[in-house]
Amino acid sequence: MEIIDGKGLANTIKEEIAKEVLEIKQNKGKIPHLAAVLIGDDPASASYVRNKVRSCDQCGFQSTLIRKDETTTEAALLDIIQGLNEDPDIDGFIVQLPLPKHINEEKVTLAIDPKKDVDGFHPMNFGRMALGLPSYLPATPFGIVQMLDRYGIETSGKHCVVVGRSNIVGTPMSILLSRKAKVGNCTVTLTHSRTNDLSAETKRADILIAAIGIPNFISSDMVKEGVVIIDVGINRVDAPEHKRGYKLVGDVDYDAVAPLASHITPVPGGVGPMTVTSLLLNTLKASRKEVYG
Ligand code: NAD
Repeated sequence: MEIIDGKGLANTIKEEIAKEVLEIKQNKGKIPHLAAVLIGDDPASASYVRNKVRSCDQCGFQSTLIRKDETTTEAALLDIIQGLNEDPDIDGFIVQLPLPKHINEEKVTLAIDPKKDVDGFHPMNFGRMALGLPSYLPATPFGIVQMLDRYGIETSGKHCVVVGRSNIVGTPMSILLSRKAKVGNCTVTLTHSRTNDLSAETKRADILIAAIGIPNFISSDMVKEGVVIIDVGINRVDAPEHKRGYKLVGDVDYDAVAPLASHITPVPGGVGPMTVTSLLLNTLKASRKEVYG
């Protein structure tokens, strides 16, 4: 069994990006600039955004954090988005989700200029991804594609089972792995909360991608020997023995499933760090105008 070290791989990719940024600087080119908008004070969201800003610094990117309180209106957020859309210095930006209940996430996603949508959530980018056209790939599935690629895990002809059909993870993941591409050519089964006999599906998986949001949901009797496990889940569970009072676990019962797997991603330190790296790669693409010219 090999542990897929997302943290280490993310650091390697960040070093590669930093080298490219250095070259851009030496050639007096434009330094990539990512902006992040954070509304409210959800601790998990704040920590994700802090991480994104820190990663920008590590790679030599410029970054701008726009932080507003929980009471920010939808109209005020749409104004901020318009400002970022029009600011020629900002190459790409993200609005950290989830948003407070009074703000319509769909409206917000649609307001972002697809050229600057480095999270890859806008329907224009989603559609281009589905058609195999150049696009900003959604950060988490893009991170998983890179992991499979860099670890040399064969996907062609394999049976991939995705558990969870969210718009940001499960559904785009199923599309990417079924595309005719170097990391792709899988036969994909997309499962969800209405799937009959989930275990029968997951047991057929050569590659199992869990994006459910339920701690330790995938148990050892749901997988076959030799499976590649990609655990997207990030769940906080009480852990009084930890200083913070909680710990992070994935959607896969790691201790029970790892001995059966050929490869497995840990939580934390697996998919999470790769998601941030994807965002940096998308921002680099945006600053080079590689997607929309
Ligand atoms: P979501 O809540 O939007 O979707 C969950 C999906 O799980 C749904 O499609 C649902 O049908 C499916 N599901 C729920 N119960 C099920 C059941 N009993 N059987 C089968 N399917 C079931 O979740 P999401 O946004 O895709 O996130 C999933 C998890 O991944 C969460 O823990 C989230 O925190 C984590 N996440 C991690 C990253 C990262 O960077 N590592 C990024 C995004 C999300």
